[in-house]
Amino acid sequence: MKKIALVGSGTSAIGFLMRFSQNSHKNITIDCFEQGKDLQERIQSNDVIKGFGGAGTFSDGKLSLSPEIGGDICDMIGMKKYEEYIDDVVHLWTRGKKVEKANITDERVKQLELGFRQNNLLLRLSDFYHIGTDLLQEILKEIKLDLNGKSDMIRFHFNQFFDFDTIDEYDYVVIASGRYDNKSSKEIQKLLHRFDIDYKENKIDIGIRYEVPSEITDWLTDLLYEFKVLGYSETEEIVRTFCVNPKGYVVGEGGKDFSLVNGHSYLNRKSKNTNFAILVTQRFTEPFKDAYVYGSTLSVLANKLAGTGKILVQRYGDFISGRRTTERRLQKGFLSPTLETASPGDLNLILPRRIANSIEHFIEQMSKVITGINNPDNLLYGIEAKFYSTKPVFNEPFKLGKENVYLIGDASGYTRGIVQATMSGIYIADVIASKL
Ligand SMILES: Cc1cc2nc3c(=O)[nH]c(=O)nc-3n(C[C@H](O)[C@H](O)[C@H](O)COP(=O)(O)OP(=O)(O)OC[C@H]3O[C@@H](n4cnc5c(N)ncnc54)[C@H](O)[C@@H]3O)c2cc1C
Repeated sequence: MKKIALVGSGTSAIGFLMRFSQNSHKNITIDCFEQGKDLQERIQSNDVIKGFGGAGTFSDGKLSLSPEIGGDICDMIGMKKYEEYIDDVVHLWTRGKKVEKANITDERVKQLELGFRQNNLLLRLSDFYHIGTDLLQEILKEIKLDLNGKSDMIRFHFNQFFDFDTIDEYDYVVIASGRYDNKSSKEIQKLLHRFDIDYKENKIDIGIRYEVPSEITDWLTDLLYEFKVLGYSETEEIVRTFCVNPKGYVVGEGGKDFSLVNGHSYLNRKSKNTNFAILVTQRFTEPFKDAYVYGSTLSVLANKLAGTGKILVQRYGDFISGRRTTERRLQKGFLSPTLETASPGDLNLILPRRIANSIEHFIEQMSKVITGINNPDNLLYGIEAKFYSTKPVFNEPFKLGKENVYLIGDASGYTRGIVQATMSGIYIADVIASKL
């Protein structure tokens, strides 16, 4: 009997389990450890990051099919494998249901690309599906039912944090712990040390979530659904839009130590506003090694100014003139925040000048293509941050040292979204199946 331990039951773990269980393997048990809850309980308690489905479950379910978006998995498995797997990934998450799709071949998109180009901005285009938070949860229920039907091979252990000291008790260990669990990240660092594996990358994307009346961007989102725009600030930082939610909602994500801002949109519930993140990439060099500390410190400060665990909101007009948004100014504005619990305040007290200036410069650049994107009543919410996992230098894709230990999904540092995280799971399921 061969024993496999799977750490986590998030996106990449689901890719692994669904692929592995497609074929019947005799004398194999998979113990899947998940520190969060099983799906139904999780939905009831609205647990955003942990539990069956992982960080992806409560997400908006945007699937970008371009290998350039959502990670660097091609550096691991190559383009040929990517193309071989991409339909399987899409099928896993859509299950043949009707979802929204971007129309990137439209002639108007070419004009749009040119418009951004003329203003020194890059519009990144990708085939794209939008599942929506509501439908995604239905799909996950179906996936869970499929996996429950394989109980002869797969055993779930919910509410159980995997004990990394038991690794040697298994024939194979697949770590799919994501990038949001600090304790697991520390355990992974220890493993990298044990297997004498070097790692690279020390950066963070930090910024704000921006909310505008949906009329301003409808023409764009009707065409593309998600617009991914990238530019350079005057201090040569990369600035980009991320996770556009047409007629969506801004949300606060309460972690254990701090809250960050994010956005959602639903297939069947629409607001009057559109939101997206504007993120500035910050790289660090010696002697500072901990980008996580940088991002979390800024976030804690923002939460403190907003009132315990809360998110700050500020009018764009106030942000650029360096004054605090008050309750009165917010109410006078034409735009009502979709995150009603956000506290009006001043993000200039938190964001370093370089980041604040980069955000302002980017919004002004974008306004040359999207009229009204720099309206004074538009709203900034802070802080939004995207943390990067350490990127180990693997000798074989996702494999730690000579042992049968694999690190997949966002924990590997090579994926950053649903498509590529799932693909890493599928890939390692095939690798392990070929060894049995
Ligand atoms: C709010 C939000 C919205 C997002 N929206 C999108 C989107 O629209 N499109 C997109 O492509 N991507 C999106 N993402 C990113 C995407 O969800 C992740 O890239 C993806 O889920 C990563 O998959 P993963 O398997 O690596 O980790 P996760 O899905 O994070 O799963 C990790 C799981 O492991 C568990 N775990 C960790 N350590 C242990 C341990 N020691 N023992 C037991 N269990 C453990 C965690 O509880 C968690 O359930 C979003 C992320 C967030 C947070």
